[in-house]
Amino acid sequence: MRAVLFDLDDTLFDHQYSTRAALEAVRGCHDCFRAVAFDELDRTHARFLEELHHDVTFGRIALDDARRERFRRLFEAMGVAADASLTAMAAAAYRERYQTVRRAIDGAGALLTRIRSRARVGIVSNNLLEEQAEKLRHCGLDRFIDTLVVSGEAGVSKPDPRIFRIALDRLGCEPAEAVMIGDSWTADVAGARAAGIRAIWFNPAGRERPDASVPRLASLAPPDVPMRMIFDADWD
Ligand SMILES: [Mg+2]
Repeated sequence: MRAVLFDLDDTLFDHQYSTRAALEAVRGCHDCFRAVAFDELDRTHARFLEELHHDVTFGRIALDDARRERFRRLFEAMGVAADASLTAMAAAAYRERYQTVRRAIDGAGALLTRIRSRARVGIVSNNLLEEQAEKLRHCGLDRFIDTLVVSGEAGVSKPDPRIFRIALDRLGCEPAEAVMIGDSWTADVAGARAAGIRAIWFNPAGRERPDASVPRLASLAPPDVPMRMIFDADWD
């Protein structure tokens, strides 16, 4: 095993923590968002985020416009016709909080330190380059990363096997010499396997595996990550 590939959001970087804290901050400023349970607001917001995210990574909508549009839709879902200043205010409050509380997933730095002594490390992420590079820097993870491949720059997104091949090319290794670790079954596990790369499912929530032959990781913190799981292709 010469290369270990990782997803970034909710695998090495705690995106969900930032998202929930940011949404909580926005919710505190607007009665219409407090009228629904937080989890329901979170789900609705996540749906709009997902809808717009794809367009952002392929340059069909500017990032700031997408952030305002997301909140316009969220206000609309709560029955409020928000004007431009209200959506801009909510988007800015969300962004400010999201950035402030950014953190790595527990154990990520220690795990990368152990891996880095034995293999090269790549990130394969569906997002924008500067956004992801800045997250890595902010969390102190950038020094462990040999290559960062993002869909916004590659022009293809996971689960398309081509984005994994770009990472392998940059790391100078073959699919059989790499392993991919990520939290999305569809994007990370199925995508990597379609590219001929062994996959490990990062699954802290303990969800059911669609395929029991894929090893799963409940946590990145030791002792939960046996190096054999990563470096021994026969592990299961
Ligand atoms: Mg992810």
